[in-house]
Amino acid sequence: MRAVVLNAAGIPEPAKISEPEGPEVLRVLACGLCGSDVEKIGSPSAGVVLGHEVVAETDKGRRVALVHHAPCGECERCRAGHESTCAEFAGATIEPGGFAERVTARAGWVDLPDRVDDALGSYAEPLACVLRGAERVPPGDVLVLGGGFVGRLFEAVLTRRGDTVYVHDRDPKRNGPEAAGLVGAAVVCAPGAGEDALAAVEPGGTVLVFAAAGPLDSDEVYRRELTVTGSRSATRRYLEEAVALLPELDLPEPLVLPLERFDEGLAAYRNRGALKVVFRP
Ligand SMILES: [Zn+2]
Ligand SMILES: [Zn+2]
Repeated sequence: MRAVVLNAAGIPEPAKISEPEGPEVLRVLACGLCGSDVEKIGSPSAGVVLGHEVVAETDKGRRVALVHHAPCGECERCRAGHESTCAEFAGATIEPGGFAERVTARAGWVDLPDRVDDALGSYAEPLACVLRGAERVPPGDVLVLGGGFVGRLFEAVLTRRGDTVYVHDRDPKRNGPEAAGLVGAAVVCAPGAGEDALAAVEPGGTVLVFAAAGPLDSDEVYRRELTVTGSRSATRRYLEEAVALLPELDLPEPLVLPLERFDEGLAAYRNRGALKVVFRP
């Protein structure tokens, strides 16, 4: 089958690979390009097929969003709500990866309603991650650092629950209105924006770290009694919530391209020409 595969230098290339094997093989309909995929490009990982924001069709013709990870659900970390740190969580559950014609998905899937098309359905996975992260953000005035796709998801989710949301981005095209003063909470969606987040919150405020935030001044955390908390990835429950919520949110349109034009999509993501790129095999 056709796929986009990383070569020995970590460069994505079109390739023919063998079919995945498992009890049920699904036909990929769409797969979103995630910032975490882009980070892996260029690091030597020959043979890897990226892509985890997958909408596929089952044997029975059902359109589904695939579950990306499977925590054990029973260990202490799982029970404490830190499922993404469970020892079983790291393993790949979508084989070989979403940038291919067909996949297996051992962690299962969630049915998509008809009114969610394939490309929008691929937003379910990143939205699930955002819904889980948003639970750690206290309600009120929230500054989102990073106006890319994930920042826009946070903006939509937090606005919907009644927060006043500001979005800051170094790129003026992605920057929103400025907060008049300090805010109750900040969400770090842009790499290295941790210090900006600490400086933006009022005493007693909360910073949600949702990207590699860079060094943080712990003296500030101490003196101003800040709460710094992290959230990464999601679980099935949030994917179900995300699928139900998708039609209700006002989200940016994706650039949808055939998988053959992967390079073009990657370039559009990198040069900020597109907020979100979705490929169809
Ligand atoms: Zn992702
Ligand atoms: Zn566990």
